[in-house]
Amino acid sequence: MRRDAAPSQPFTTLLIPAMALIVHKYGGTSMGSIERIRNVALRVAKWHRAGHQMMVVPSAMAGETNRLLELAYAVSVQLEPRELDMIAATGEQISIGLLSLALKELGVGARSYAGWQVPIKTDSTFTKARIIEIDCARVQCDLDAGQVVVIAGFQGVDGENNITTLGRGGSDTSALALAAAFAAHECLIYTDVDGVYTADPRIVDQARRLECITCEEMLEMASLGSKVLHTRSVEFAGKYRVKTRVLSSLTDPAMPLEEEMQSGTLMTFEEDKTMEQAVVSGIAHQRDEARIALLGVPDTPGIAYQILGPIAHAHIDVDMIVQNQSVQGRTDFTFTVARSDYARALDILNASVKTQIGAHQVVGDPKVSKVSAVGVGMRSHVGVASTMFRTLAEEGINIQMISTSEIKISVLIDEKYMELAVRALHKAFALERG
Ligand code: ADP
Ligand code: ASP
Ligand code: MG
Repeated sequence: MRRDAAPSQPFTTLLIPAMALIVHKYGGTSMGSIERIRNVALRVAKWHRAGHQMMVVPSAMAGETNRLLELAYAVSVQLEPRELDMIAATGEQISIGLLSLALKELGVGARSYAGWQVPIKTDSTFTKARIIEIDCARVQCDLDAGQVVVIAGFQGVDGENNITTLGRGGSDTSALALAAAFAAHECLIYTDVDGVYTADPRIVDQARRLECITCEEMLEMASLGSKVLHTRSVEFAGKYRVKTRVLSSLTDPAMPLEEEMQSGTLMTFEEDKTMEQAVVSGIAHQRDEARIALLGVPDTPGIAYQILGPIAHAHIDVDMIVQNQSVQGRTDFTFTVARSDYARALDILNASVKTQIGAHQVVGDPKVSKVSAVGVGMRSHVGVASTMFRTLAEEGINIQMISTSEIKISVLIDEKYMELAVRALHKAFALERG
Protein backbone atom coordinates (compact mmCIF):
# COMPACT_ATOMS: atom_id res chain seq x y z
CA MET A 1 0.00 0.00 0.00
CA ARG A 2 1.27 3.49 -0.58
CA ARG A 3 0.23 7.07 -0.13
CA ASP A 4 -1.79 8.91 -2.77
CA ALA A 5 -0.61 8.61 -6.31
CA ALA A 6 2.41 10.49 -7.59
CA PRO A 7 1.82 12.27 -10.93
CA SER A 8 3.41 9.66 -13.20
CA GLN A 9 2.90 6.14 -11.99
CA PRO A 10 4.19 3.13 -13.85
CA PHE A 11 1.31 1.07 -12.49
CA THR A 12 -1.61 2.85 -14.07
CA THR A 13 -0.75 1.74 -17.57
CA LEU A 14 -3.89 1.97 -19.62
CA LEU A 15 -2.96 -0.23 -22.52
CA ILE A 16 -5.22 -3.21 -22.97
CA PRO A 17 -4.33 -5.42 -25.92
CA ALA A 18 -7.06 -6.02 -28.52
CA MET A 19 -9.22 -9.06 -27.87
CA ALA A 20 -7.92 -9.34 -24.30
CA LEU A 21 -9.77 -11.65 -21.94
CA ILE A 22 -11.19 -9.51 -19.16
CA VAL A 23 -12.93 -10.82 -16.03
CA HIS A 24 -15.49 -8.61 -14.30
CA LYS A 25 -16.81 -9.47 -10.83
CA TYR A 26 -19.93 -7.73 -9.48
CA GLY A 27 -20.85 -7.89 -5.78
CA GLY A 28 -24.27 -8.06 -4.16
CA THR A 29 -24.98 -4.31 -4.10
CA SER A 30 -23.91 -4.01 -7.74
CA MET A 31 -26.45 -6.75 -8.58
CA GLY A 32 -28.96 -5.48 -6.00
CA SER A 33 -31.94 -4.64 -8.25
CA ILE A 34 -33.12 -5.13 -11.82
CA GLU A 35 -32.01 -1.58 -12.61
CA ARG A 36 -28.52 -2.30 -11.25
CA ILE A 37 -28.35 -5.57 -13.21
CA ARG A 38 -29.24 -3.60 -16.35
CA ASN A 39 -26.40 -1.22 -15.56
CA VAL A 40 -24.02 -4.15 -15.13
CA ALA A 41 -25.16 -5.44 -18.52
CA LEU A 42 -24.57 -2.01 -20.10
CA ARG A 43 -21.03 -1.91 -18.68
CA VAL A 44 -20.20 -5.44 -19.80
CA ALA A 45 -21.66 -4.77 -23.25
CA LYS A 46 -19.43 -1.69 -23.55
CA TRP A 47 -16.33 -3.81 -22.87
CA HIS A 48 -17.51 -6.53 -25.23
CA ARG A 49 -18.17 -4.04 -28.01
CA ALA A 50 -14.66 -2.66 -27.51
CA GLY A 51 -13.51 -6.06 -28.80
CA HIS A 52 -12.68 -7.91 -25.59
CA GLN A 53 -13.53 -11.44 -24.56
CA MET A 54 -15.67 -11.12 -21.47
CA MET A 55 -16.17 -13.36 -18.47
CA VAL A 56 -18.49 -12.02 -15.77
CA VAL A 57 -18.79 -13.38 -12.24
CA PRO A 58 -21.74 -12.01 -10.27
CA SER A 59 -22.65 -12.50 -6.60
CA ALA A 60 -26.18 -13.08 -5.38
CA MET A 61 -28.38 -9.97 -5.21
CA ALA A 62 -27.76 -7.95 -2.01
CA GLY A 63 -29.25 -9.64 1.05
CA GLU A 64 -30.15 -12.80 -0.86
CA THR A 65 -27.54 -15.13 0.65
CA ASN A 66 -28.54 -13.98 4.15
CA ARG A 67 -32.19 -14.57 3.31
CA LEU A 68 -31.46 -18.08 2.05
CA LEU A 69 -29.41 -18.96 5.12
CA GLU A 70 -32.14 -17.63 7.42
CA LEU A 71 -34.63 -19.92 5.68
CA ALA A 72 -32.34 -22.85 6.41
CA TYR A 73 -31.94 -21.84 10.06
CA ALA A 74 -35.71 -21.49 10.37
CA VAL A 75 -36.16 -25.11 9.31
CA SER A 76 -33.42 -26.74 11.32
CA VAL A 77 -31.00 -26.05 14.14
CA GLN A 78 -28.94 -29.15 13.31
CA LEU A 79 -27.70 -27.66 10.10
CA GLU A 80 -26.15 -30.05 7.65
CA PRO A 81 -23.40 -28.08 5.83
CA ARG A 82 -24.02 -29.95 2.58
CA GLU A 83 -27.64 -28.79 2.53
CA LEU A 84 -26.65 -25.25 3.54
CA ASP A 85 -24.47 -25.07 0.44
CA MET A 86 -27.25 -26.48 -1.71
CA ILE A 87 -29.47 -23.63 -0.51
CA ALA A 88 -26.91 -20.79 -0.42
CA ALA A 89 -25.62 -21.50 -3.93
CA THR A 90 -29.00 -20.73 -5.49
CA GLY A 91 -28.58 -16.98 -4.95
CA GLU A 92 -25.83 -16.75 -7.54
CA GLN A 93 -27.78 -18.97 -9.92
CA ILE A 94 -30.55 -16.38 -10.09
CA SER A 95 -27.98 -13.65 -10.73
CA ILE A 96 -26.31 -15.38 -13.67
CA GLY A 97 -29.63 -16.06 -15.35
CA LEU A 98 -30.84 -12.49 -14.90
CA LEU A 99 -27.58 -10.98 -16.09
CA SER A 100 -27.47 -13.20 -19.17
CA LEU A 101 -31.02 -12.17 -20.04
CA ALA A 102 -30.16 -8.49 -19.53
CA LEU A 103 -27.18 -8.87 -21.88
CA LYS A 104 -29.32 -10.56 -24.50
CA GLU A 105 -31.77 -7.67 -24.26
CA LEU A 106 -28.88 -5.45 -25.35
CA GLY A 107 -28.16 -7.71 -28.31
CA VAL A 108 -25.09 -9.30 -26.71
CA GLY A 109 -24.75 -13.09 -26.90
CA ALA A 110 -24.38 -14.41 -23.36
CA ARG A 111 -24.39 -17.80 -21.67
CA SER A 112 -24.69 -18.55 -17.97
CA TYR A 113 -22.89 -21.31 -16.09
CA ALA A 114 -23.36 -22.57 -12.55
CA GLY A 115 -20.12 -23.63 -10.86
CA TRP A 116 -20.72 -27.34 -11.49
CA GLN A 117 -21.27 -26.75 -15.19
CA VAL A 118 -17.84 -25.22 -15.78
CA PRO A 119 -16.85 -27.21 -13.67
CA ILE A 120 -15.09 -25.37 -10.84
CA LYS A 121 -13.83 -28.31 -8.80
CA THR A 122 -13.42 -27.90 -5.05
CA ASP A 123 -12.70 -30.02 -2.03
CA SER A 124 -15.63 -31.16 0.13
CA THR A 125 -15.30 -28.69 2.99
CA PHE A 126 -18.89 -27.52 2.72
CA THR A 127 -19.43 -23.80 3.46
CA LYS A 128 -15.65 -23.16 3.23
CA ALA A 129 -14.60 -25.19 0.18
CA ARG A 130 -11.31 -24.55 -1.59
CA ILE A 131 -10.95 -24.52 -5.36
CA ILE A 132 -8.76 -27.36 -6.60
CA GLU A 133 -9.06 -27.14 -10.36
CA ILE A 134 -11.01 -25.38 -13.09
CA ASP A 135 -11.80 -27.10 -16.36
CA CYS A 136 -11.54 -24.43 -19.06
CA ALA A 137 -12.62 -26.35 -22.18
CA ARG A 138 -16.37 -25.77 -22.28
CA VAL A 139 -16.26 -22.10 -21.37
CA GLN A 140 -13.35 -21.45 -23.73
CA CYS A 141 -15.49 -22.60 -26.68
CA ASP A 142 -18.11 -19.99 -25.82
CA LEU A 143 -15.49 -17.29 -25.38
CA ASP A 144 -13.95 -18.18 -28.74
CA ALA A 145 -17.40 -17.94 -30.30
CA GLY A 146 -17.71 -14.38 -28.98
CA GLN A 147 -20.21 -15.11 -26.23
CA VAL A 148 -20.07 -13.27 -22.93
CA VAL A 149 -19.73 -16.02 -20.34
CA VAL A 150 -21.51 -15.39 -17.03
CA ILE A 151 -20.29 -17.70 -14.27
CA ALA A 152 -21.82 -18.02 -10.79
CA GLY A 153 -19.50 -16.80 -8.06
CA PHE A 154 -19.15 -18.39 -4.61
CA GLN A 155 -19.80 -21.98 -5.74
CA GLY A 156 -18.21 -25.10 -7.08
CA VAL A 157 -18.60 -28.85 -7.12
CA ASP A 158 -16.72 -31.53 -5.20
CA GLY A 159 -15.42 -34.91 -6.37
CA GLU A 160 -18.80 -36.51 -5.65
CA ASN A 161 -20.79 -33.90 -7.60
CA ASN A 162 -22.00 -32.15 -4.45
CA ILE A 163 -22.51 -28.41 -4.75
CA THR A 164 -20.11 -26.52 -2.49
CA THR A 165 -19.66 -22.87 -1.52
CA LEU A 166 -16.42 -21.03 -0.87
CA GLY A 167 -17.28 -19.09 2.31
CA ARG A 168 -19.01 -15.74 2.70
CA GLY A 169 -17.65 -13.17 0.27
CA GLY A 170 -16.28 -16.01 -1.88
CA SER A 171 -17.31 -14.62 -5.27
CA ASP A 172 -14.11 -12.57 -5.35
CA THR A 173 -12.22 -15.85 -5.09
CA SER A 174 -14.25 -17.39 -7.93
CA ALA A 175 -13.38 -14.41 -10.14
CA LEU A 176 -9.67 -14.42 -9.35
CA ALA A 177 -9.41 -18.21 -9.69
CA LEU A 178 -11.13 -18.03 -13.08
CA ALA A 179 -8.92 -15.13 -14.15
CA ALA A 180 -5.87 -17.20 -13.17
CA ALA A 181 -7.09 -20.40 -14.86
CA PHE A 182 -7.89 -18.60 -18.14
CA ALA A 183 -4.80 -16.37 -17.93
CA ALA A 184 -7.04 -13.30 -18.19
CA HIS A 185 -5.42 -10.00 -19.00
CA GLU A 186 -7.11 -8.31 -16.05
CA CYS A 187 -9.65 -8.97 -13.31
CA LEU A 188 -11.85 -6.03 -12.38
CA ILE A 189 -13.65 -6.30 -9.04
CA TYR A 190 -16.65 -3.96 -9.19
CA THR A 191 -18.13 -3.13 -5.79
CA ASP A 192 -20.03 -0.47 -3.85
CA VAL A 193 -16.96 1.62 -2.98
CA ASP A 194 -14.58 3.14 -5.49
CA GLY A 195 -11.47 1.28 -4.34
CA VAL A 196 -9.47 0.16 -1.34
CA TYR A 197 -9.25 2.77 1.42
CA THR A 198 -6.92 3.34 4.35
CA ALA A 199 -9.78 2.03 6.55
CA ASP A 200 -13.38 1.01 5.95
CA PRO A 201 -14.90 4.26 4.59
CA ARG A 202 -18.17 3.35 6.31
CA ILE A 203 -16.44 3.76 9.67
CA VAL A 204 -13.84 6.44 8.99
CA ASP A 205 -15.16 9.49 7.09
CA GLN A 206 -11.64 10.71 6.52
CA ALA A 207 -10.39 7.42 5.01
CA ARG A 208 -8.38 7.92 1.85
CA ARG A 209 -8.63 5.88 -1.34
CA LEU A 210 -5.36 4.27 -2.39
CA GLU A 211 -4.28 4.38 -6.02
CA CYS A 212 -2.26 1.21 -5.51
CA ILE A 213 -1.82 -1.43 -2.86
CA THR A 214 0.77 -4.19 -2.79
CA CYS A 215 -0.58 -7.70 -2.93
CA GLU A 216 1.20 -8.45 0.35
CA GLU A 217 -0.56 -5.60 2.15
CA MET A 218 -3.90 -6.41 0.56
CA LEU A 219 -3.52 -9.97 1.79
CA GLU A 220 -2.96 -8.73 5.35
CA MET A 221 -5.81 -6.21 5.14
CA ALA A 222 -8.21 -8.85 3.78
CA SER A 223 -7.23 -11.52 6.26
CA LEU A 224 -7.53 -8.99 9.09
CA GLY A 225 -11.10 -8.19 8.13
CA SER A 226 -11.16 -5.66 5.25
CA LYS A 227 -13.89 -7.45 3.39
CA VAL A 228 -13.50 -5.38 0.24
CA LEU A 229 -11.65 -8.47 -1.07
CA HIS A 230 -11.99 -12.08 0.05
CA THR A 231 -8.65 -13.28 1.43
CA ARG A 232 -8.30 -16.28 -0.84
CA SER A 233 -8.95 -14.13 -3.90
CA VAL A 234 -5.84 -12.11 -3.02
CA GLU A 235 -3.89 -15.35 -2.64
CA PHE A 236 -4.90 -16.34 -6.19
CA ALA A 237 -3.99 -12.90 -7.51
CA GLY A 238 -0.58 -13.11 -5.84
CA LYS A 239 0.21 -16.68 -6.84
CA TYR A 240 -0.77 -16.26 -10.48
CA ARG A 241 0.13 -12.58 -10.77
CA VAL A 242 -3.32 -11.59 -11.96
CA LYS A 243 -3.62 -7.89 -12.66
CA THR A 244 -6.45 -6.89 -10.34
CA ARG A 245 -8.30 -3.62 -9.84
CA VAL A 246 -11.03 -2.77 -7.31
CA LEU A 247 -13.47 -0.16 -8.61
CA SER A 248 -17.02 1.12 -8.31
CA SER A 249 -19.99 -0.36 -10.18
CA LEU A 250 -22.07 2.68 -9.25
CA THR A 251 -20.51 5.04 -11.80
CA ASP A 252 -22.02 5.77 -15.22
CA PRO A 253 -21.73 2.48 -17.16
CA ALA A 254 -21.12 4.46 -20.35
CA MET A 255 -17.95 6.04 -18.91
CA PRO A 256 -15.03 5.68 -21.40
CA LEU A 257 -12.91 2.56 -20.87
CA GLU A 258 -9.73 4.61 -20.42
CA GLU A 259 -11.34 6.60 -17.62
CA GLU A 260 -12.59 3.42 -15.98
CA MET A 261 -9.09 1.92 -16.13
CA GLN A 262 -7.74 4.89 -14.22
CA SER A 263 -10.26 4.67 -11.44
CA GLY A 264 -10.23 2.51 -8.32
CA THR A 265 -7.27 0.80 -6.70
CA LEU A 266 -4.74 -1.34 -8.55
CA MET A 267 -3.08 -4.23 -6.77
CA THR A 268 0.65 -4.38 -7.44
CA PHE A 269 3.22 -7.07 -6.89
CA GLU A 270 6.19 -5.00 -5.87
CA GLU A 271 6.81 -2.23 -3.41
CA ASP A 272 7.31 1.11 -5.11
CA LYS A 273 10.82 2.07 -4.09
CA THR A 274 10.58 5.49 -5.70
CA MET A 275 7.98 6.82 -3.32
CA GLU A 276 8.10 7.56 0.33
CA GLN A 277 6.58 4.60 2.04
CA ALA A 278 3.98 5.11 4.73
CA VAL A 279 4.90 3.25 7.91
CA VAL A 280 1.32 2.24 8.59
CA SER A 281 -0.80 2.30 5.48
CA GLY A 282 -4.14 0.99 6.65
CA ILE A 283 -6.30 0.08 9.63
CA ALA A 284 -8.32 -3.12 9.34
CA HIS A 285 -10.99 -4.45 11.65
CA GLN A 286 -12.78 -7.72 12.22
CA ARG A 287 -15.94 -7.19 14.20
CA ASP A 288 -17.27 -10.71 14.72
CA GLU A 289 -14.60 -12.38 16.81
CA ALA A 290 -14.95 -14.52 19.93
CA ARG A 291 -12.43 -15.34 22.67
CA ILE A 292 -12.21 -18.65 24.49
CA ALA A 293 -9.95 -19.29 27.50
CA LEU A 294 -9.17 -22.57 29.24
CA LEU A 295 -8.16 -21.85 32.81
CA GLY A 296 -5.91 -24.07 34.92
CA VAL A 297 -4.67 -26.29 32.10
CA PRO A 298 -1.92 -28.76 33.10
CA ASP A 299 1.27 -27.38 31.51
CA THR A 300 2.50 -30.55 29.82
CA PRO A 301 3.86 -31.32 26.34
CA GLY A 302 1.09 -31.81 23.77
CA ILE A 303 -1.52 -29.73 25.60
CA ALA A 304 -1.91 -27.17 22.81
CA TYR A 305 -2.50 -29.98 20.37
CA GLN A 306 -5.04 -31.62 22.67
CA ILE A 307 -6.97 -28.35 22.86
CA LEU A 308 -6.73 -27.21 19.25
CA GLY A 309 -6.66 -30.60 17.49
CA PRO A 310 -10.41 -31.25 17.88
CA ILE A 311 -11.12 -27.62 16.95
CA ALA A 312 -9.15 -27.99 13.71
CA HIS A 313 -10.82 -31.32 13.07
CA ALA A 314 -14.18 -29.52 13.14
CA HIS A 315 -12.82 -27.10 10.48
CA ILE A 316 -12.90 -24.17 12.90
CA ASP A 317 -10.18 -21.63 12.15
CA VAL A 318 -8.26 -20.40 15.17
CA ASP A 319 -6.72 -16.96 14.97
CA MET A 320 -4.85 -15.44 17.95
CA ILE A 321 -3.37 -17.81 20.53
CA VAL A 322 -1.81 -16.94 23.90
CA GLN A 323 -0.48 -19.34 26.51
CA ASN A 324 0.45 -17.79 29.85
CA GLN A 325 3.48 -18.53 32.01
CA SER A 326 2.65 -21.58 34.11
CA VAL A 327 2.13 -21.32 37.86
CA GLN A 328 2.51 -24.51 39.89
CA GLY A 329 2.29 -26.65 36.76
CA ARG A 330 -0.90 -25.05 35.45
CA THR A 331 -1.43 -22.40 32.81
CA ASP A 332 -4.21 -20.49 31.01
CA PHE A 333 -4.64 -21.03 27.28
CA THR A 334 -6.59 -18.44 25.28
CA PHE A 335 -7.49 -18.28 21.60
CA THR A 336 -9.95 -16.60 19.25
CA VAL A 337 -12.34 -17.95 16.64
CA ALA A 338 -14.93 -16.37 14.35
CA ARG A 339 -18.07 -15.55 16.33
CA SER A 340 -20.10 -17.88 14.12
CA ASP A 341 -17.92 -20.79 15.33
CA TYR A 342 -18.00 -19.79 19.02
CA ALA A 343 -20.83 -22.05 20.23
CA ARG A 344 -19.48 -25.07 18.34
CA ALA A 345 -15.95 -24.52 19.68
CA LEU A 346 -17.27 -24.23 23.25
CA ASP A 347 -19.27 -27.44 22.84
CA ILE A 348 -16.19 -29.29 21.61
CA LEU A 349 -14.09 -28.06 24.52
CA ASN A 350 -16.76 -28.69 27.12
CA ALA A 351 -17.01 -32.24 25.86
CA SER A 352 -13.29 -32.85 26.32
CA VAL A 353 -12.16 -30.31 28.86
CA LYS A 354 -12.66 -32.21 32.09
CA THR A 355 -11.80 -35.62 30.79
CA GLN A 356 -8.91 -35.41 28.34
CA ILE A 357 -7.49 -31.94 28.96
CA GLY A 358 -8.08 -31.65 32.69
CA ALA A 359 -8.58 -27.84 32.71
CA HIS A 360 -10.34 -26.21 35.66
CA GLN A 361 -12.73 -24.15 33.58
CA VAL A 362 -13.62 -22.94 30.08
CA VAL A 363 -14.70 -19.30 29.79
CA GLY A 364 -15.43 -17.17 26.77
CA ASP A 365 -16.52 -13.82 25.39
CA PRO A 366 -18.39 -13.78 22.07
CA LYS A 367 -18.34 -9.98 21.80
CA VAL A 368 -14.79 -9.04 20.96
CA SER A 369 -13.28 -7.46 17.85
CA LYS A 370 -9.83 -7.27 16.33
CA VAL A 371 -8.27 -4.04 15.14
CA SER A 372 -5.01 -4.06 13.18
CA ALA A 373 -2.48 -1.60 11.79
CA VAL A 374 -0.93 -2.83 8.52
CA GLY A 375 1.99 -1.57 6.46
CA VAL A 376 5.07 -2.93 4.71
CA GLY A 377 6.82 0.22 5.95
CA MET A 378 6.67 -1.23 9.49
CA ARG A 379 9.54 -3.54 8.64
CA SER A 380 12.00 -0.70 8.84
CA HIS A 381 10.39 1.37 11.58
CA VAL A 382 10.21 0.96 15.31
CA GLY A 383 7.61 2.56 17.53
CA VAL A 384 4.46 1.48 15.71
CA ALA A 385 3.39 -0.76 18.59
CA SER A 386 3.95 1.96 21.18
CA THR A 387 1.95 4.50 19.14
CA MET A 388 -0.84 1.97 18.86
CA PHE A 389 -0.87 1.08 22.55
CA ARG A 390 -0.63 4.74 23.63
CA THR A 391 -3.54 5.72 21.36
CA LEU A 392 -5.76 2.97 22.76
CA ALA A 393 -4.75 3.84 26.33
CA GLU A 394 -5.67 7.49 25.76
CA GLU A 395 -9.13 6.36 24.63
CA GLY A 396 -9.45 4.13 27.72
CA ILE A 397 -9.63 0.97 25.58
CA ASN A 398 -8.36 -2.20 27.23
CA ILE A 399 -6.26 -4.58 25.10
CA GLN A 400 -7.16 -8.23 25.70
CA MET A 401 -4.71 -9.91 23.32
CA ILE A 402 -1.94 -8.81 20.95
CA SER A 403 -0.43 -10.46 17.92
CA THR A 404 2.22 -9.17 15.54
CA SER A 405 3.91 -10.02 12.26
CA GLU A 406 6.52 -8.19 10.22
CA ILE A 407 3.91 -5.95 8.63
CA LYS A 408 1.01 -5.83 11.09
CA ILE A 409 0.03 -5.39 14.73
CA SER A 410 -3.36 -6.63 15.88
CA VAL A 411 -5.16 -6.13 19.17
CA LEU A 412 -8.27 -7.79 20.51
CA ILE A 413 -10.67 -5.42 22.26
CA ASP A 414 -14.26 -5.24 23.50
CA GLU A 415 -16.55 -4.97 20.47
CA LYS A 416 -18.19 -1.80 21.77
CA TYR A 417 -14.94 0.15 21.32
CA MET A 418 -14.13 -1.20 17.87
CA GLU A 419 -15.18 1.81 15.78
CA LEU A 420 -13.62 4.25 18.24
CA ALA A 421 -10.35 2.33 18.06
CA VAL A 422 -10.33 2.28 14.24
CA ARG A 423 -10.93 6.05 14.07
CA ALA A 424 -8.38 6.87 16.75
CA LEU A 425 -5.67 4.72 15.14
CA HIS A 426 -6.42 6.08 11.67
CA LYS A 427 -5.80 9.54 13.07
CA ALA A 428 -2.78 8.56 15.17
CA PHE A 429 -1.00 7.17 12.10
CA ALA A 430 -1.86 10.30 10.07
CA LEU A 431 -3.82 8.42 7.42
CA GLU A 432 -6.56 11.00 6.90
CA ARG A 433 -7.31 12.82 3.69
CA GLY A 434 -5.77 16.16 3.72
P1 ADP B 1 -19.34 -6.78 -2.62
O1 ADP B 1 -20.74 -7.16 -2.31
O2 ADP B 1 -19.20 -5.90 -3.81
O3 ADP B 1 -18.41 -7.96 -2.66
P2 ADP B 1 -18.45 -6.18 0.06
O4 ADP B 1 -19.50 -5.68 0.97
O5 ADP B 1 -18.03 -7.61 0.19
O6 ADP B 1 -18.88 -5.84 -1.43
O7 ADP B 1 -17.11 -5.29 0.18
C1 ADP B 1 -17.21 -3.90 0.02
C2 ADP B 1 -17.25 -3.26 1.39
O8 ADP B 1 -16.00 -3.46 2.04
C3 ADP B 1 -17.40 -1.76 1.38
O9 ADP B 1 -18.74 -1.39 1.30
C4 ADP B 1 -16.72 -1.33 2.69
O10 ADP B 1 -17.66 -1.04 3.70
C5 ADP B 1 -15.94 -2.56 3.12
N1 ADP B 1 -14.54 -2.27 3.44
C6 ADP B 1 -13.89 -2.69 4.56
N2 ADP B 1 -12.65 -2.24 4.59
C7 ADP B 1 -12.46 -1.52 3.46
C8 ADP B 1 -11.34 -0.80 2.94
N3 ADP B 1 -10.18 -0.76 3.56
N4 ADP B 1 -11.51 -0.17 1.74
C9 ADP B 1 -12.70 -0.22 1.09
N5 ADP B 1 -13.80 -0.88 1.55
C10 ADP B 1 -13.67 -1.53 2.73
N1 ASP C 1 -23.26 -14.24 -2.06
C1 ASP C 1 -22.16 -14.68 -1.23
C2 ASP C 1 -22.21 -13.95 0.10
O1 ASP C 1 -23.08 -13.15 0.35
C3 ASP C 1 -20.84 -14.53 -1.91
C4 ASP C 1 -20.40 -13.11 -2.22
O2 ASP C 1 -21.18 -12.16 -2.12
O3 ASP C 1 -19.23 -12.94 -2.57
O4 ASP C 1 -21.36 -14.21 0.94
MG1 MG D 1 -17.49 -9.08 -1.15
